[in-house]
Amino acid sequence: MFNLAGNQLTSLAENNFAIKKVCLSTALVLGGLLLSACATFDENTQPEVKKLVVLHTNDHHGRFWHNEHGEYGMAARKTLLDKLRAQAKDNDQEVILLSGGDINTGIPESDMQQAEPDFRGMALLGYDAMAIGNHEFDNPVSVLAKQQEWAGFPFLSANIIDNASNEHAYQASTVITKGDIKIGLVGLTTTDTKVIGNPEYIGHLSFTKPSTAAKIAIDEMNKTQQVDITIAVTHMGHFVDAKHGINAPGDVTLARELPAGMLDVIIGGHSQEPVCMLDENDSDNNYQAGSACQPDKQNNTWIMQAHEWGKYVGKAEFEIINGEVTLTSYQLIPVNLTQMQRLANGQYKRSFIGEELKKSPEVYNFLLPYQQKGGAEILVAFATVNGLLNGHRTQIRNRQTNLGKLIATAQMQKVHADFGIISSGGIRNSIESGEVNYKQVLSVHPFKNRLTYVDMMGKDVEQYLMTVAAFPPDSGAFAQFSGVSFQVKDNQVSHILIKGQPIDNNRSYRFSLNSYNAAGGDGYPKLLDHKGFVATSYIDAEVLKEFLQSNSPLNVNEYQPNGEINRQ
Ligand SMILES: [Zn+2]
Repeated sequence: MFNLAGNQLTSLAENNFAIKKVCLSTALVLGGLLLSACATFDENTQPEVKKLVVLHTNDHHGRFWHNEHGEYGMAARKTLLDKLRAQAKDNDQEVILLSGGDINTGIPESDMQQAEPDFRGMALLGYDAMAIGNHEFDNPVSVLAKQQEWAGFPFLSANIIDNASNEHAYQASTVITKGDIKIGLVGLTTTDTKVIGNPEYIGHLSFTKPSTAAKIAIDEMNKTQQVDITIAVTHMGHFVDAKHGINAPGDVTLARELPAGMLDVIIGGHSQEPVCMLDENDSDNNYQAGSACQPDKQNNTWIMQAHEWGKYVGKAEFEIINGEVTLTSYQLIPVNLTQMQRLANGQYKRSFIGEELKKSPEVYNFLLPYQQKGGAEILVAFATVNGLLNGHRTQIRNRQTNLGKLIATAQMQKVHADFGIISSGGIRNSIESGEVNYKQVLSVHPFKNRLTYVDMMGKDVEQYLMTVAAFPPDSGAFAQFSGVSFQVKDNQVSHILIKGQPIDNNRSYRFSLNSYNAAGGDGYPKLLDHKGFVATSYIDAEVLKEFLQSNSPLNVNEYQPNGEINRQ
């Protein structure tokens, strides 16, 4: 032991910090004599260097299991995290693991179990805290409370206020100590949650201005605690140069609105992208997995985001000297992502980018029963129908069908719209007579489009219908309707009735459609910038399931088109 210590002392002679550490650990073993000897070394000690590794993910969206190509998944992520923690230990670094939120919604196996495998999995992986994302409100708040228990680490948001008490609905901030490093954490949630969330679940909550809420929470924290580094875990999106368009302001706006130096790092989510910059306010939109990534920096605050689904673990290494925080390295580490390579014979082969991470047996075996249970639940019947709901490609792309009308009705009702539109390309299968399970629903709506709606004046509705009704049969664009009737002749639309009443040019109407069509898919007019446009967080398959379930046993004849759309 003496020998070892002696060797270390010689090799580290130029590094006072390391000497001090060696002395202290030796002193613990050998007692007072060495302690006093070390005091001499401490005389001209340089400022203490604290080293912290921040590991982060975001927008997990139900991906506790790997996909069919073996990409991502929490079992492989655990192996990577173990490796990174071991490396950090060797480098005298402390480690904190954070999430930018949106754990919920996206994969039926997870959704049907209220993301229990995901949250329990995060606990196994050692997450320290996360931001509350908008999708955390896809279920009643009682489910979120249950998820908080499964996770066991804090869910943070400083800008969600309970209207009844006028107080924070969730924990605003926390201080986590790792070794000798005190890390101040504050959480923030996009104010768009109010717009895109389900009013049933969030009607009692207000979402306040993030920078104001953050400043109050950080000031509050600093009153009682001396932290070494201040980090915001956020779920608000990264919008380059703060150009957030119709979205609520995101991380860049937050960094710019706070006093410089108040916030050292933002670990973000929501926009689901690797935040990698080419230059100031110029993001790398073609970021390739495995290549270098320069995070954004605004007003002295680093902004980081690790794409989505656990595809990457972000790794930021900091040195803290006298309260001065310096980023010394940053990496987005792919978790078993693959690429297609063209072989000499012209064929394509899929291979892992970098070395394949073996799945942690501990996490794999923990998650497997959930995966099996979720898989089985997809096959459980939840409704019955008394005839065929026709989504056959050659039918639904040529005429109105009962399934087209039913889906447009379901979507319309979900967002309290006056009428509903869906392109036939968004309906990929029929539902046969008899029992219905979620697997069948997913075969009708495999794309997980979000439900959107727009409030539009009658005269503009007429124009919109003119465009949409003109899409020819035998195409994915061919539209299915509910709640509206009209005649089409020579590409002109006339006799428009909405809910049985003639259309009024001067009143506003709401219609539902999916995010794909709203974004211009199938050549539909783009609505994303329309001032009355709202993208909800409802997924088309979920909306259809809910509708079938609540109308079961369902009489298919009630959805039989009745000449509402009269093409001459
Ligand atoms: Zn989100």
